[in-house]
Amino acid sequence: MRRPSRPRTTKAAARAVTPAEPSPDYLRALYDRTTLGIALLDHAGVIVHANAALTLLLGQEPAAVAGSVLANFCPPEDAELVRARSSLAHGAQGAATLDARFVRPDGTILWGLLSISPADVDDRVRFTAILQDLTERKAHEAHLVHQAYHDPLTSLANRELFRERVSHAIASRERDPSTLAVMLLDLDHFKNINDTQGHSVGDRMLQVVARRLKSATRGCDTVARLGGDEFAILVEHVDARSGAETVAERVVAALREPVAIDGTRALITGGSIGIAVYTGIETTDELLRNADVAMYESKLHAPGRWVVFDPSMHTALIERVTLEADLRQALERSQLLERPRLEETGVYRAYEPRPAVSTEFAVAYQPIVDLVTGQVSSVEALARWAHPQRGDVSPEVFIPAAEQCGLIAVLGRWVLREACRQGAAWNRDRAGPAITVTVNLSAKQLAHDELVSELESILHETGLEPRRLILEITETAIMQNAEATLARLQRIKQLGVGLAIDDFGTGYSSLSYLQRFPVDVVKIDRVFTSRLRTNGDGAEVIRTILALADLLDLRTIAEGVEEASQLDELRALGCDAVQGFLYGQPLTASEVEQVFAAGAAPR
Ligand code: C2E
Ligand code: MG
Ligand code: MG
Repeated sequence: MRRPSRPRTTKAAARAVTPAEPSPDYLRALYDRTTLGIALLDHAGVIVHANAALTLLLGQEPAAVAGSVLANFCPPEDAELVRARSSLAHGAQGAATLDARFVRPDGTILWGLLSISPADVDDRVRFTAILQDLTERKAHEAHLVHQAYHDPLTSLANRELFRERVSHAIASRERDPSTLAVMLLDLDHFKNINDTQGHSVGDRMLQVVARRLKSATRGCDTVARLGGDEFAILVEHVDARSGAETVAERVVAALREPVAIDGTRALITGGSIGIAVYTGIETTDELLRNADVAMYESKLHAPGRWVVFDPSMHTALIERVTLEADLRQALERSQLLERPRLEETGVYRAYEPRPAVSTEFAVAYQPIVDLVTGQVSSVEALARWAHPQRGDVSPEVFIPAAEQCGLIAVLGRWVLREACRQGAAWNRDRAGPAITVTVNLSAKQLAHDELVSELESILHETGLEPRRLILEITETAIMQNAEATLARLQRIKQLGVGLAIDDFGTGYSSLSYLQRFPVDVVKIDRVFTSRLRTNGDGAEVIRTILALADLLDLRTIAEGVEEASQLDELRALGCDAVQGFLYGQPLTASEVEQVFAAGAAPR
């Protein structure tokens, strides 16, 4: 098939088929006008001639370039290599390509790709050197590397870079005998700030914290943001654990200062710090894990302070984690917790509990005996957990674990509902004086806004009269976030539910707090009851508490009464009611019914 031919001049057709050799003029134009720097070098690398682009790239006068060697324009670190590749005397063997830096007279740096090729043009010129400007590309690369290793919000090192620095520090310990320490910091209450003030305030807060950490450390330390509100510091060249603790002290002090952002009320955030000191045997992962374990310990026992890792913490942590996992599974087995669905792993929703479901959990009831009437006037509901392998687990163990991992909301709600259901049934089905049930409320439950509405619906659903319910709260729970707690307690009181302070005398509440909180009952901690027996000072403390209760018109219950002599003394001191093994251990619901049926308490 014939193609339609394009009209061409004869000359153009000739050019298309016969490539011409570039004329010396063309080559000269190329040499003069290209942006590539070109130099002709002699056997020793001395520049015989350089084009305009090269002098421009190097920022030099033509006269300074000709007769010099390229290495003269390089920083010392790069000079040797450039010399070796461009001079026969220094061993240059053939073509070579290398990245090299050149320093201009004004101090700026040119990053260049230098290609050197042998060129036997005449006796003088033995090499041609071509220099391409890579400065922008290198800057871009450096930017990408920075991005890959830094946190964009705070510009601190990120987790990858931090790990690398720790590994490097550990590796160099063979040469340097000083210790190093890794410090992990988790901000306290940061989630609150994010939730109440919004994310942009949260972000600014993180930036302020980053700056403060920087100024609390030395230049040779690495400060990193590992993600969220978690920061890390690598402290190097400290001589001992005390060096790391000094840094921790400065960090704690730096975080104690309130932060004001955009005219917000001064925000306060503390941090929990875990420190792991390198002992010469840990790997990077082990050192980081140890710091993590110490931080967890600090969150539990020393929020706002620091804890130095100790190997025993690891065993304790493993025990705690398995306990939490067992508790979670037990709640799932008992259908108090929905198993996570595949598509929403980690999201747990509470089931509407059905009391008919068989459960490892139970509520035991301990009678509380009124000293005036001698009758059981109320019972305290106490959670029980019988694990198939572990056996009975003490609430002193599983309640704190449930609080720690957030399961107390589910468990506490179940105990509350179960106790209210049982209390309502007793008051409906039997003759005799009405029974009040007292239920323990953990600080975590009290901190929840839904508590009051939940309580209201449980009362409604179970039919327990509100005045037949007393909630027990510890002094420490009240003191945490006292203002919000006060408002919540007042709403609970408005429902008609009573409030008791549990374990009174062991916490820190002051008289003024007691006056402000709408409490009805004070439960005297059993340590004071036990001191009635061992040494006489229990009586003094109890006398003081009773006087205080009298003043504030509160009812008093002494806990932990085990012996008749204690009972007699409490009666003599004027205590209103007692609870303790003297009248029996906490019992099952049907066992308590027998106590009710027996009428007056045994003593
Ligand atoms: P608590 O509220 O002070 O409960 C009284 C504890 O003292 C109970 O321990 C009870 O068995 C024990 N006790 C009673 N009489 C005597 C006695 O005469 N001598 C001695 N030595 N002890 C006596 P239990 O049942 O092991 O509960 C321990 C703690 O666990 C409770 O202390 C309470 O703080 C917590 N707890 C139990 N159930 C729940 C619950 O459902 N929710 C919450 N938040 N905490 C609970
Ligand atoms: Mg209690
Ligand atoms: Mg108590």
